[in-house]
Amino acid sequence: MKIEILGCYGNSIGDFKTTSFLIDDSILLDAGTVTDVLNDERLKKISNIIITHTHLDHIKDLVFLVDELVMMGRYNIELISVKQVLDIISNNLFNNLLWPDFTVIPSYDNAVIKPREIKLNEYTQINDITVKPILMTHTVYCVGYVVKNNDRGFMFTSDTGPTKAFWETAQQEKGIDFIIADVSFPNRMGELARISGHMTLDILMDHLKRYNLEKKPIFITHIKPIFLEEIIHELSQLGKPNIRPLIQGETIHL
Ligand SMILES: [Zn+2]
Ligand SMILES: [Zn+2]
Repeated sequence: MKIEILGCYGNSIGDFKTTSFLIDDSILLDAGTVTDVLNDERLKKISNIIITHTHLDHIKDLVFLVDELVMMGRYNIELISVKQVLDIISNNLFNNLLWPDFTVIPSYDNAVIKPREIKLNEYTQINDITVKPILMTHTVYCVGYVVKNNDRGFMFTSDTGPTKAFWETAQQEKGIDFIIADVSFPNRMGELARISGHMTLDILMDHLKRYNLEKKPIFITHIKPIFLEEIIHELSQLGKPNIRPLIQGETIHL
């Protein structure tokens, strides 16, 4: 599996871009940063878009992506998530007010976007990979994912506060090479992290310890750019070589 990190920050400012990972050239995991960084040749190869939740930093480029895809004559791109997330998108984004309803453009039978509902805690095959959504703890309905190709893969928390089910799965699931985990705020902002459904390094470390995952490779994501230096400093103080920030633009192979 090839995972390209198109964006991995908790805000879009300057060169910092928001969450979007491109898997095997064709599957997007979140759509915070797509048309900003991929040209038409690469956009044309996208066949499936998996969404974790509807906060704009995870879906904003969906609107420009679908426009470009329809102009290129691409149809039947799957928009994949659990029902709760798909419903929010159709009621609040592709509602002919904020953006046209691209699930019926250019026609109902040949629309650019085909919503595809998947079930919580169940594996679903998408091209060569399988994904399993897990309900996370956030301010809107949000799912994290186990992503696997054959017997190997990774897990992604998306945006989340402490979530028992995710870490229990991480402990039990076989073949997980690494976990991409939300650390949005520095430790001194633990209260803001709690009320906004995110984590600090302290909260993350507490979970890794509690679930015997202290040696698991961890990539931290969703850092608010304004706190980047502070969080990097906190990380260096930990002295944990298996934990590092995800880097925008990097490609991970597994
Ligand atoms: Zn969010
Ligand atoms: Zn976010």
